[in-house]
Amino acid sequence: MTAAIIDGKAIAKDIRAELKEEIEALKQSGITPGLAVVIVGDDQASHTYVNSKEKSSKEIGIYSEVHRYPADYSEEKLLQKVEELNNDDRIHGILVQLPLPKHISEDKVIDAIAPEKDVDGFHPVNVGKMVIGKDSFFSCTPYGIIKMLEKENISLEGKHVVVIGRSNIVGKPAALLSLMHNATVTICHSRTKDLPAITRQADVVIAAVGIANYVTADHIKPGAVVIDVGINRNDAGKLCGDVDFNNVKEVAGAITPVPGGVGPMTITMLLFNTVKSAKAKAAKIK
Ligand code: NDP
Repeated sequence: MTAAIIDGKAIAKDIRAELKEEIEALKQSGITPGLAVVIVGDDQASHTYVNSKEKSSKEIGIYSEVHRYPADYSEEKLLQKVEELNNDDRIHGILVQLPLPKHISEDKVIDAIAPEKDVDGFHPVNVGKMVIGKDSFFSCTPYGIIKMLEKENISLEGKHVVVIGRSNIVGKPAALLSLMHNATVTICHSRTKDLPAITRQADVVIAAVGIANYVTADHIKPGAVVIDVGINRNDAGKLCGDVDFNNVKEVAGAITPVPGGVGPMTITMLLFNTVKSAKAKAAKIK
């Protein structure tokens, strides 16, 4: 049996269409959701991500501004900019693109973003709320995974979810959100012993390792759902995930491809969080 392919691109398109309608309704009531993205330095990949965030925002009617600064921009000025955006009524979401140049403390900058505008879900207040099971802004990539599973009618309730990776932006929040959806969760990382023995017990494997073809068919229980977060280049320079897709799809029940799986969901959830923030603001005004 070959696995069902989970089409992240199609799911993202549907969610963006829903958001577009919500934005039109918000505009009728006098609020245009606004997203500000700040980027410092000349990392090419970061600029590509930022351009894509700007384009996607505009496509669905979000007011969008991008503040681009040179690599030697000071931490003090960046913190001032964040403060300015915190106080700007047109802006409902603030995203500072990471990584930042070494002379700037990422922690300081993230802490400076008003939690109610932290649409990346990185502020300790939002992370803390997630830990205690409260609604907040959830980190976009793991939140995108949860939404994707919901849209595919794959319930996590009572399932054993094994997350490979424990980063603050993917692994840990993916585990916490799975827990919030009543899964039994195991987190694996670089010090985990006999990892395949653990992943073979999983009903759902979420791979966020950053190593091409790390998850092979012998890691997977027949019929399991496999979510591939990785973005890597293989030896031929081709984009690929953490999962050996061609072989794993012969064992798994459902699987996300790379590209076209988790990737398109990440920006979608950024847009979702921006609209959510604007709706919260609208509710406050009422
Ligand atoms: P990090 O490098 O921050 O984390 C990688 C995690 O994998 C760490 O927890 C590390 O463990 C673990 N790990 C490393 N080697 C092994 C190993 N041999 N066995 C088991 N675990 C291991 O990466 P990110 O979480 O930021 O990203 C993970 C992947 O997802 C990357 O490919 C990245 O490009 C991609 N990504 C994709 C996004 C998307 O939109 N699709 C968004 C964000 C990331 P330890 O903690 O012990 O070091």
